[in-house]
Amino acid sequence: MNWKTGLTGMKPYTPGRSIEDVQTLYGLKEVVKLASNENPYGCSPAVKAFLESNTIQHEIYPDGNAGNLRNKLSKKHNVPKEMLLFGNGSDEIIMIISRALLGEGSNTVMPSPSFPQYAHNAKIEGAEIREVPLVNGQHDLNGFMDAMDSNTAVIWLCSPNNPTGNIIPANELKTFLKKIPDDILVVLDEAYYEYVTASDHIDSVTLLNDFANVIVLRTFSKAYGLAAFRVGYAIGNPAIISYLNTVRSPFNNNSFGVAVAERALDDEAFIEKCRELNSEQRNRFKNYAIENGIHMFDSQTNFVLIEVPDDADDAAESLLRHGFIVRSGNVLGTPGYVRVTIGTEAQNSNFFKAFDLLLNSQEIRI
Ligand SMILES: *Cc1c(COP(=O)(O)O)cnc(C)c1O
Repeated sequence: MNWKTGLTGMKPYTPGRSIEDVQTLYGLKEVVKLASNENPYGCSPAVKAFLESNTIQHEIYPDGNAGNLRNKLSKKHNVPKEMLLFGNGSDEIIMIISRALLGEGSNTVMPSPSFPQYAHNAKIEGAEIREVPLVNGQHDLNGFMDAMDSNTAVIWLCSPNNPTGNIIPANELKTFLKKIPDDILVVLDEAYYEYVTASDHIDSVTLLNDFANVIVLRTFSKAYGLAAFRVGYAIGNPAIISYLNTVRSPFNNNSFGVAVAERALDDEAFIEKCRELNSEQRNRFKNYAIENGIHMFDSQTNFVLIEVPDDADDAAESLLRHGFIVRSGNVLGTPGYVRVTIGTEAQNSNFFKAFDLLLNSQEIRI
């Protein structure tokens, strides 16, 4: 068959190991998954109550416009309804953007390492990928300026960045956006927005008034604790949203996911609580890294990228044996590090014990 040339050598996404797999593999009773930055506190009790008593009509197609959820988010962000686009997770929005704007002859600029779906989708569409290496975990925005040219169609920014966790400081971001020609779409992926506590970070939705070529991505998968339901959304200029909406498939979000996201928005106190708890636990990780003289990136998210002795795959394997699934930096473009989702207080205490063993076994070997 005549597959698109971009597909040559590409592989499907390989998810991390499941809790059940690891339990069977190592005969463990309890396994904690700290590999995909899900919310360890679950989701709002309001959502759980709804799930037990829902009245979704299974035989009816979903509202392709996600009208009720649109109304709620329009109020929450104080933007017109035409500025919202919904995706089956923000993953799908990344795909829609790529499909609409990228192809042979165009190029797209992105940080590296960062969220792999930007490059993955660009490759399928046949666009040239220009990766700008991070500097100390931060976007090198001057490097972005050097990388782009008249064929650049999309610029991807990930703030906070996955897998380093660093944010782009608000002033740097604004200075950068002023320099970008308005025919280039700038995507600001903020999957971890709710976890940010730093003061030099602003609600980027306010930037949309000044920069009509910017689109912001948010998701219900991380802090809202609803990864299973696949709901993400974009906020941007109505003209951009309208083009992307043409590419979107008619019933991309299912009724259940949309209804659940609506309930989650009624309980912002849950998000605040998670932000606080996560921030406390993030500080424990910071202190642990300092005490043990290991490097950790300055995270504003619910995960940390932390240095390990020796090879990252070996470290991930050792942690796995003690019941913790983490992501090896070898697959994230950060060898020598593992990415660990910040768990609950008890989970983290046990994680530090497992990490102690990793550090100690290393000392003995040396
Ligand atoms: C998890 C994640 C996403 C994808 O989220 P979904 O809404 O579940 O598709 C997008 N971007 C980044 C940076 C992420 O870490």
